[in-house]
Amino acid sequence: MLRATMTAMADSNLIKSMVTGFPLTRSVVDRFVAGETLDECLVRVRELADAGLLATIDRLGEDTTNRQQAEETADAYVELIERLHAEGLTDRVEVSLKLSAIGQFLPEGRELALANALRICQAAADAGTTVTFDMEDHTTTSSTLGLLAEVRERFPQTGAVIQAYLRRTRDDTRDLATEGSRVRLCKGAYEQPASVAYKTAEEIDRSYVDCLRILMEGPGYPMVATHDPAMISTALSLANVTRRAVDSYEFQMLFNIRPDEQRRLSELGHQVRVYVPYGTDWYGYFMRRLAERPANLFFFLRALVGRR
Ligand SMILES: Cc1cc2nc3c(=O)[nH]c(=O)nc-3n(C[C@H](O)[C@H](O)[C@H](O)COP(=O)(O)OP(=O)(O)OC[C@H]3O[C@@H](n4cnc5c(N)ncnc54)[C@H](O)[C@@H]3O)c2cc1C
Repeated sequence: MLRATMTAMADSNLIKSMVTGFPLTRSVVDRFVAGETLDECLVRVRELADAGLLATIDRLGEDTTNRQQAEETADAYVELIERLHAEGLTDRVEVSLKLSAIGQFLPEGRELALANALRICQAAADAGTTVTFDMEDHTTTSSTLGLLAEVRERFPQTGAVIQAYLRRTRDDTRDLATEGSRVRLCKGAYEQPASVAYKTAEEIDRSYVDCLRILMEGPGYPMVATHDPAMISTALSLANVTRRAVDSYEFQMLFNIRPDEQRRLSELGHQVRVYVPYGTDWYGYFMRRLAERPANLFFFLRALVGRR
């Protein structure tokens, strides 16, 4: 219900201009976003690295409306990767990429997104790091996985993302659980119709656990993206039962969400990667974080009326 309302709000240009134009919004956005510039983001990433955490950087932007914007986004990713290389961070930091940002939704977007994705993956391979393709709403799932399969022919280390809330995901997980395959399993952040997605927390959690089991028992590299204590504990048990080495899977969490748990798992010897978004186009990401948790929305509304 909250997610449906927030998604409708997110699509409204009027709401967008109100939210982004309101001065106090910025202080709440800072809770979820690591800055507007790459320099600001890298300060946060270094702090995480100093605390023993890995990172994946997302350059925010999903409203790409023309070819030039798609190319500029790809250029910015290449620059980001070169910067990571120059600063000696590529053994700890990779990048996350939304195919919509590099042109997937434009006319002839498939070829454009593929060319841009290959360019970014080549830069990552040259720099000694990896790229993971974020997953967006269900209308893009097949095309994103299809494009990923093509990219993996040249760059097999490219990471996939699957969303447990989709009814199709158990099948997708079986297809992706292959030798060396890096797969991020998350619950899913977009509002989806019941025809394609589970709607109750119980169904989503059941699907998450089933997919987690397939990944942990398989020969790939599971990336367990959740803040949910029950899912984390199931992942730890499965890793134990399947006798996985600690470097054969990782936990992933979002920037500034449950940071104590990120550090706790890391101190126990597990690999923990933090998803670090930066950039000026933070609106879509921010609205999804509000939609995930009523407390975030109340925090935001309180800030708007000046009682923070
Ligand atoms: C590394 C990473 C990458 C992701 N990539 C994608 C992607 O490509 N596509 C996609 O659709 N989704 C993605 N997501 C988002 C994901 O699908 C969920 O929407 C989000 O992680 C919340 O689900 P949860 O598993 O944490 O469980 P939930 O049951 O939603 O939350 C469990 C607990 O985590 C904490 N928590 C969860 N969300 C928040 C929040 N916003 N603010 C504060 N606390 C919170 C709360 O304590 C909550 O009780 C990603 C998530 C992570 C961690």
